Amino acid sequence: MKISLVCTPKRLPLEKAIAAAKTAVEVNPLNHTPLHRLTGVIPDFVATPERIAVLTTKYWGLQGVSLTVGFLDNPPADLQKRIILHMNAWAKTSNVKFVATKVDPQVRIARAAGPEGGYWSYLGSDILHIAKKDPTMNLEAFTMSTQESEFHRVVRHETGHTLGFPHEHMRKALVDKIDPQKAIEYFERTQGWKEQEVREQIEESTLRGTPPDPKSIMCYQIPGELTKDGNPIIGGLDIDPTDYKFAATIYPKKVSAPARPKTLVRTKR
Ligand SMILES: [Zn+2]
Repeated sequence: MKISLVCTPKRLPLEKAIAAAKTAVEVNPLNHTPLHRLTGVIPDFVATPERIAVLTTKYWGLQGVSLTVGFLDNPPADLQKRIILHMNAWAKTSNVKFVATKVDPQVRIARAAGPEGGYWSYLGSDILHIAKKDPTMNLEAFTMSTQESEFHRVVRHETGHTLGFPHEHMRKALVDKIDPQKAIEYFERTQGWKEQEVREQIEESTLRGTPPDPKSIMCYQIPGELTKDGNPIIGGLDIDPTDYKFAATIYPKKVSAPARPKTLVRTKR
């Protein structure tokens, strides 16, 4: 099994992390709450506790996501339209909308190669901390000739990061399948990553005890040569039913107005 380009989720530099965490809480107070400890307190339409296992999240608010999108290298109009169409695939079950603009876009897409190349996006509200001249997402070498399946696999995946969704393969059950030594050797050879980067990408996980979804669009392919049992983690090729369900809990299309403020007050400690 061959890995083509793998996604490298972008993290803000350390000096921006504190401000970004404050922003995340301003944007969505639930980002501040250790949701996984509040099983039974948070109603199902907010988040299923099984699926939310991170302490500090970067989700946009329950009011939904409406973001403007621009392109930094002026690609053809049909390509711009096609990319935004796939970004909006998430809207099938959730309150999510991406709209093209030429003026001061919030999501800024580049197609760079080289050191800043590859496929990546900053996570959720972190994009608000990126300088306006810089991209928040990179789709290296995407053109109208790129296979349709790659628009599904890559554009929808990176958009998932923009919506605040982390990597599914960071879940412990999947991480446990990966052989760290094999992974370090593999990613050094194929991606030029240092050992530390590989450990951050593959091994380090703050997520615990969540059922993994190996077909999730947020799960990238891990070849069999990296796993302890030699079986590949197939990874998602498109937004799957579990992803759609999850997105609907984070960005519900309809919020029950009376329940929401009451719940927010109750979950603050
Ligand atoms: Zn990714």
